[in-house]
Amino acid sequence: MGALPIRDRAVRAWGAALSVAIALHALGAVASSGPDDIGWQRCAETRVVVRAADRRDADDACQGARRPIDFFNRLELRADEPIIVEIVSELPDIVSPTAAGAFLKSEGRVLLQTYEKFRTNGTWFEVPVDRRLYQSAATHEIAHALALDNFRTPAPTIEAMEYIAYVTQFATMEESQRRQVLAAIPGDGFTDEVEMSTVIYMLAPMRFAAEAYRHYLKPGNGAVFLRAVLSGVALGD
Ligand SMILES: [Zn+2]
Repeated sequence: MGALPIRDRAVRAWGAALSVAIALHALGAVASSGPDDIGWQRCAETRVVVRAADRRDADDACQGARRPIDFFNRLELRADEPIIVEIVSELPDIVSPTAAGAFLKSEGRVLLQTYEKFRTNGTWFEVPVDRRLYQSAATHEIAHALALDNFRTPAPTIEAMEYIAYVTQFATMEESQRRQVLAAIPGDGFTDEVEMSTVIYMLAPMRFAAEAYRHYLKPGNGAVFLRAVLSGVALGD
């Protein structure tokens, strides 16, 4: 019941955003909510549009978007959902303080902090923040948006949604950075589903992320387990 209206809204919103972008290009103008606002930008060869005040932030969001799309395509999952990304200096209060972005499921919209704001964290996943880590934050939120189009269960659990988003983020992270993050958050990986509960995620989301990725790497898991999560067979209610 839930997925279709959300998708419809996302499509309509995406269409509106593109229309705005196209109209502004036709006028030779940029959308201006600030002196440096570059307005809407479409990420090349994707159906992702980004709005940012800083071109480098928009480019990073596009880099971050390309990776989950490629990852989903390799797994033969749907990855052509139109996605709207807005880069903002403040996230809504409902978002966890450790988050660098958010996927607003009801609106089909991704929010990502500006890099300027993101870097004030100093570290993220226990390693110093840099542009590569910022791109991976975009990857995480966009993976949430893509996953929604692939779930075959009407109400995926939080742990199911986060498993998909973190595995996608880690699997597509630049290799030396992934090694650094995993070294900073040691563990042997989750061994079964009971360990991947909402409570465990809420208590320590970054540890959940690293342990979920290690679980994904274990023999027999990988794409098979990802598909089981999407179908609701694994990490369901
Ligand atoms: Zn998430």
